[in-house]
Amino acid sequence: MPEKKKYRIIYRKNECIGAFACVSAEPGTWKQAPEGDKADIIDGIHEGDEVFVKDVDDLGNNMEAAQSCPVNCIHIIDQETGKKLI
Ligand code: SF4
Repeated sequence: MPEKKKYRIIYRKNECIGAFACVSAEPGTWKQAPEGDKADIIDGIHEGDEVFVKDVDDLGNNMEAAQSCPVNCIHIIDQETGKKLI
């Protein structure tokens, strides 16, 4: 079984207003969605109800991406401690 990654990024797409601060902060993880008015998490897994997750070992600039989101629809969990970082 593959080892659990250190962090989980959770994205609630229904809350996104398309400000693209996330794309500016961390373009390796975020991109403009084809429909144009929202972001997509690159290689995210659809968990249902407009919720997408991506597990990573290296957060890169995703804390900055989450902090810069004006509607706080990006969350990050430390999977080792279970703590919600944002
Ligand atoms: S910063 Fe937030 S509101 Fe803006 S595009 Fe990214 S997820 Fe959507």
